[in-house]
Amino acid sequence: MAEKKLGFDTLKVRAGYDSREHNYSVAVPIYQTASYDLGSVERGEKLFGMTEAGYLYTRIGNPTVAVLEQRLAALDKGTGAVAVASGMAAVAYTLLNLAEGGGRILTTPRLYGGTFDALNHLYPRFGVHVDFVEDSDDPASFKSAIKSDTKAILIESISNPNSTILDIEAIAEVAHEQGIPLVIDNTFGTPYLFDSFAHGADIIVYSATKAIGGHGTTLGGVIVENGKFNWNNGKFPHLEEPQYLLRDQESGRERSILEVFPEAPFTARVRLSYLAYFGASLSPFDAFLLIQGTETLSERISKQVSNALRIVDYLQKSDKVSWVSHPAAEGNPYQALAEKYFPKGAGSIFTFGFKGNEQQLKSFLNAVELFSYHANVGDARSLIINSPKTTHGELNAEEQAAAGIAPETIRLSIGLEDADDLIQDLEQAFAKAFVETLV
Ligand SMILES: *Cc1c(COP(=O)(O)O)cnc(C)c1O
Repeated sequence: MAEKKLGFDTLKVRAGYDSREHNYSVAVPIYQTASYDLGSVERGEKLFGMTEAGYLYTRIGNPTVAVLEQRLAALDKGTGAVAVASGMAAVAYTLLNLAEGGGRILTTPRLYGGTFDALNHLYPRFGVHVDFVEDSDDPASFKSAIKSDTKAILIESISNPNSTILDIEAIAEVAHEQGIPLVIDNTFGTPYLFDSFAHGADIIVYSATKAIGGHGTTLGGVIVENGKFNWNNGKFPHLEEPQYLLRDQESGRERSILEVFPEAPFTARVRLSYLAYFGASLSPFDAFLLIQGTETLSERISKQVSNALRIVDYLQKSDKVSWVSHPAAEGNPYQALAEKYFPKGAGSIFTFGFKGNEQQLKSFLNAVELFSYHANVGDARSLIINSPKTTHGELNAEEQAAAGIAPETIRLSIGLEDADDLIQDLEQAFAKAFVETLV
């Protein structure tokens, strides 16, 4: 199949799978196996010597998981992908594969709470240090924060939770001038809304748990690369150095990751080092569920975006709301960047300011009936949460201020219900919150 020429919606249901290679099964089969027969001693030698492609052990590769990997690589027009057990594993393996051995990661405080907290408190214990830019909205601020041992810039395409958008191309230019890659966590953007590689990303990470799975059933993560970054610049010796594992079977000459996997060296390294030895592998059944989600990605996201616009409009007019942080909101400072980078809409996850006291905010959250009160996003169902106390609760007051998370913040992730019902639900919850506390 000449996948490069096919459109996004065709690829999302077809890429990476040929039924003729799987007993003509129409649906992608679940290869529920830990290991694979080597067939013969000769074949086993070839597989372990990597002169023949094939499966050895599900920790480093599985045919069901491979369909998910190839499908997402196709959707992002990448050259390789590796799927892992969660979004956090995808972020961790990516950052460690860049900065292992004492490098630095440059980023912004506008990040998923877990990523932010891990960068601050856990990575430094492994010798990987982090710098936060002073002004996320100013690409020059990224430039001035790069040090000689900075190994990558990490940003989110649409930030969690406030849906802010950075000048992605300008930041990519800063990274590339310094010979370091730009990593984009495109979980909120999704491959449907945002073309990361076209705007300068070198590595994309996803929490597939969110919009890709889309039904709140399954944890997963994916790392995608496009094979364009020049890793041969001395900053990434672990990709350049020859390894015994990759020796040429005939001459015995040791070879590097870059030599053996020129098309997709980054994800090959993640697979052969981090997935193989840290072991956060995605299960075949979970890969199957994430493939199911991928097949309806466009339809779900476009409906969620149009629902979100209705809710944004409703909240902007409500006197119980002090502000709405979505690029489509009136006067939002990210409108121009949203138009440039997100022509199909800037997502369905955003925040608003609750105009009431703490007790009223609690009553409001307790009063919603349709919205589910929990810490996830990208579900088919609409979700609501008080981010400062939950998803970003690891951040102290100062860190929350730096990340732009005000105490009155409520985050919504809009699902596939009827927009009118969702608006009705918010309306009755506001009414209850403000009446109850009057008495
Ligand atoms: C949820 C999320 C993660 C972590 O993903 P898990 O699948 O929950 O481990 C990382 N980045 C962003 C932007 C997220 O929303």
